[in-house]
Amino acid sequence: MDLKSLIRDIPDFPKPGIIFKDITPILKSPEAIQYCIDALAAPHMNQSIDYVVGIESRGFLFGPAIAAKLGAGFIPVRKRGKLPHRTRVVNYDLEYGSDSLEIHEDAIEANSRLLLTDDLLATGGTMKATIELVTPFSPHIVGVSLLVELAFLNGSAQLDNIPIHSLVQY
Ligand code: AMP
Repeated sequence: MDLKSLIRDIPDFPKPGIIFKDITPILKSPEAIQYCIDALAAPHMNQSIDYVVGIESRGFLFGPAIAAKLGAGFIPVRKRGKLPHRTRVVNYDLEYGSDSLEIHEDAIEANSRLLLTDDLLATGGTMKATIELVTPFSPHIVGVSLLVELAFLNGSAQLDNIPIHSLVQY
């Protein structure tokens, strides 16, 4: 499937100089959304994933669907102040600005097999922060699953040799 034809470039969003990759045309297409869920889950079907960890907010679009396909649970990583129970926090830099991410302090059991997911990898700062956030739980991070990878930004260099799978690369 030609996913690139369903990813729209929005120049200067959310600030000047950023070309935002808008994936809403993929979400709108019944064939494309089904294709993406299947293709994102496929490499991980036999990896005994316990939890898919999705990053707010676009990591919530495919994360739970991938988890359902894998027979895994879904764990949200959220922006600061959104999770109701006690949390761990990490601060990080983005392609545009800086932010904090949180996870419930009891979210993950030791030795759990995790698949981390987001819609897009740019500089890798968000995913690196998520790895930092989950590492104290002593998990096994099996892989990182992405719809889009901006390979020219070399974000994968930040990810400690964790295997990355993405459906579309620029
Ligand atoms: P980074 O931390 O630089 O890898 O940025 C990844 C996060 O920011 C992801 O959650 C993306 O949704 C978002 N993001 C960064 N750059 C873009 C972009 N050019 N288009 C769409 N989303 C982006």
